Amino acid sequence: MKVTRRTFFKVCAGGLGGSTVAMLGFSPDKALAEVRPFKLARSSETRNTCPYCSVSCGLIMHSLGDKAKNAEASIFHIEGDPDHPVNRGTLCPKGAGLVDFIHSPNRLKYPEYRAPGTKEWRRISWDEAFTRVARLMKDDRDRNFIPKNDAGTTVNRWLTTGFLAASASSNESGYITHKAIRSTGILAFDNQARV
Ligand code: SF4
Repeated sequence: MKVTRRTFFKVCAGGLGGSTVAMLGFSPDKALAEVRPFKLARSSETRNTCPYCSVSCGLIMHSLGDKAKNAEASIFHIEGDPDHPVNRGTLCPKGAGLVDFIHSPNRLKYPEYRAPGTKEWRRISWDEAFTRVARLMKDDRDRNFIPKNDAGTTVNRWLTTGFLAASASSNESGYITHKAIRSTGILAFDNQARV
């Protein structure tokens, strides 16, 4: 199509919007048919396990912002891991909403301590938390460990402390957790995945 100056102004004055371009000989079909930029193209992928239930579906978490100095990474999309043997890329609605859980203002991100007789929770460091838990466990075990039962049989039981593990563990970390806890003599041990 030969476009003269007069034709150009005539077409534009007609107010034909998008079709104006077509009338000038530039078809938008090709541009519209282009693949849109994939929204995850520049993201960093991190594998993880859904923390919600004992199915323990595999996740891929997509984040942006960790490729430049002083930039803070932020997870903006989560989907099922297609290579994970448990879920093969699928997620239930709860797992599919995990990105909201991650950014929730109510999410617990650090240990807190509420002293006896108080109603306030106080933020403490991980060092303080681990030291306190280890101290209390050691003292309790020293006081209550049962090496033998009444019949004289070795039982090595520690019945006054229990342990609850998370189902977000892999098989391997679940196995190691089980071995470590049982080695102390604790019998009251559980998690959602029943390792
Ligand atoms: S995605 Fe759903 S089924 Fe899978 S572990 Fe999370 S809560 Fe359980």
